[in-house]
Amino acid sequence: MSLTPEQALEQAALAGIHCLRIPTPFAVGRVNCYLLEDEPLTLIDTGPNSGKALDELQSQLAERGHSIEDLELLVITHQHIDHLGLAEIVVQRSGARVAALGIASERLANFDEDAEAEDRFAVELMIRNGIPEEVTVALRSVSRSFRGWGSHVEVTQPLEDGEVLTFGNRTLQAIHRPGHSPSDTVFWDEERKILIAADHLIAHISSNPLITRPLDGSSQRTQALVAYIESMKKTREMPAEIVLSGHGEPIVDHVALIDERLAKHERRKEKIYGLIAERPRTGYEIAQAIWGNVAVTQAFLTLSEVIGHTDLLLNEGRVREVADDEVVRYETTL
Ligand SMILES: [Zn+2]
Repeated sequence: MSLTPEQALEQAALAGIHCLRIPTPFAVGRVNCYLLEDEPLTLIDTGPNSGKALDELQSQLAERGHSIEDLELLVITHQHIDHLGLAEIVVQRSGARVAALGIASERLANFDEDAEAEDRFAVELMIRNGIPEEVTVALRSVSRSFRGWGSHVEVTQPLEDGEVLTFGNRTLQAIHRPGHSPSDTVFWDEERKILIAADHLIAHISSNPLITRPLDGSSQRTQALVAYIESMKKTREMPAEIVLSGHGEPIVDHVALIDERLAKHERRKEKIYGLIAERPRTGYEIAQAIWGNVAVTQAFLTLSEVIGHTDLLLNEGRVREVADDEVVRYETTL
């Protein structure tokens, strides 16, 4: 019999893993950070860089008899600002070591430059896929306004994929699971069958595989959804009993959740193929056909979703990209 999400949280707490729900200004709501009461005393993710998040982090640590100053290790699960914005403050006050995926460390260290480069990349991608320039200008200013919630992070303990972190009472294996972001890392407690998965899997929402620049800084974009599906298939094979997520409730049947997500992507892929089969279309035209006005207000998100699926179709050899001077269109290969 599987646990309820509530029982899963209790079980995690008995194992010394306490969920701290830290507020964010984003639509996703609170972010789940995890306090690991072990040797060393560890915080997994921090929440965004805001006074409100800092207050809550302090008071939720205090409920467990700790302060920020007591933290000895900070673990960062991935590059998104709702997860790492308080890192600099936490490190300044605690002197904690910082563990994160080694190949992401340069990116984490150069947060501001990186955010700027990411924005430029996104604008170029949107224009190439037919999104009107005025829409990209609006989105870029939204992105700039969010930047204050982030922080640069100096990684002092770079992790290899598969590396095992040893604590007084447990081991956690760091496993790279790119897709939602290129730096997504999950932490596996094999003995207790608990997976700390952050945004790799979220129970109530499908994680967005946003198109980004790859971690190596090359200009070739990632195939985010292709990578994400690969990653989910690997996680599906893990004998996890509890998956602790970066948002919302714990997942107690990750196989069923992953199967549901894979089926959803399969359906969406066929829907997009059908639209392309009617006539060649840009990514933006596909997004508008599916989401209407949301393709304008959430242009980058919906475009990422479309490109994720056209990547699958490209890899299957069912569609191809045809570029003119202005935009790229997709057409079928038949
Ligand atoms: Zn995220």
